[in-house]
Amino acid sequence: MKIKKSYGYSWSEGKKQAAPEGKTPSEGRKGTAVFLIAAALVGIVVISVAAFGPLEENQPPVSIPQTQPQPVPQDPPSLQNQQTPSSTNTPAVIHGYSKDELLGKINPKKNGAFMKIESKYTSKTDIYMRADAYASFVKMAAAAKKDGIELTIVSAFRSFADQKGIWELKWNGGKTVAGKNLAKEVADPVERAKYILLFSSMPGTSRHHWGTDIDLNSLENSYFADGQGKKVYDWLVKHAAEYGYYQPYTPKPETRTDGYEEEKWHWSYLPAAKPMLSAYMKEIGYSDLNGFLGWETAAKIKVIEKYVMGINKSCLP
Ligand SMILES: [Zn+2]
Repeated sequence: MKIKKSYGYSWSEGKKQAAPEGKTPSEGRKGTAVFLIAAALVGIVVISVAAFGPLEENQPPVSIPQTQPQPVPQDPPSLQNQQTPSSTNTPAVIHGYSKDELLGKINPKKNGAFMKIESKYTSKTDIYMRADAYASFVKMAAAAKKDGIELTIVSAFRSFADQKGIWELKWNGGKTVAGKNLAKEVADPVERAKYILLFSSMPGTSRHHWGTDIDLNSLENSYFADGQGKKVYDWLVKHAAEYGYYQPYTPKPETRTDGYEEEKWHWSYLPAAKPMLSAYMKEIGYSDLNGFLGWETAAKIKVIEKYVMGINKSCLP
């Protein structure tokens, strides 16, 4: 309060009086005295600023155009993502996620934004997703059921550690990729990483880290090509957007040039995922991608630009 007061005076009253006309000696002396008082007050302000930090944190004395980002309201996690796709560029949300949330370094069992998926909706046990994405999925599944379509979640949130396990198993040759033991057959680290990226995300870059994305029914495009699988896919293409769900990995090169191959099973709840991608693009850099075998290839491959952002353009923020 003290800083505000003195600063306000020096700018308003003090400044006016500090520019005397000085026609008579008495006026001149009076003016000089006022000037000295004003100068002293400015000095106090300068010292106060040096001691207590920048004045921007206090009320500014004059109206300055507010170009700085406004403080992010600290909503409870369950309210953070209640946005429609059309309003997902709101800056307030962009900084609402920690690096750990964006990199999947959280425990969904202990995070209030997440919910456990009921067994009737999933073939897995103990899997989680964001509460808002889940609530919308439940509505979508009910609508699909009325049309004779069963939607089953086969994957949802995956942690950094989960993804590291998948990635390193392939990196070490514990699991073959396209029939190759990468540890034995692909010596060049960048080439080896690119092989894995045909089918799996690098740890720290998966949309599954966010809890906003789900895999439905099957992990094979062929399942969705005919029969019941085709009915499921056609229903999703027609109706998923009504529930905020979109397919980020659409066919290449028709809809995008970079990134993973088409995934007809992967659906993203954009009201939550778009703000998270915005935050990711601002907050996460290559210095954040480490702690797994082959991490040093991330920057060389430009995995953020080509894979994280290599999605259907309509899914970009
Ligand atoms: Zn997926």
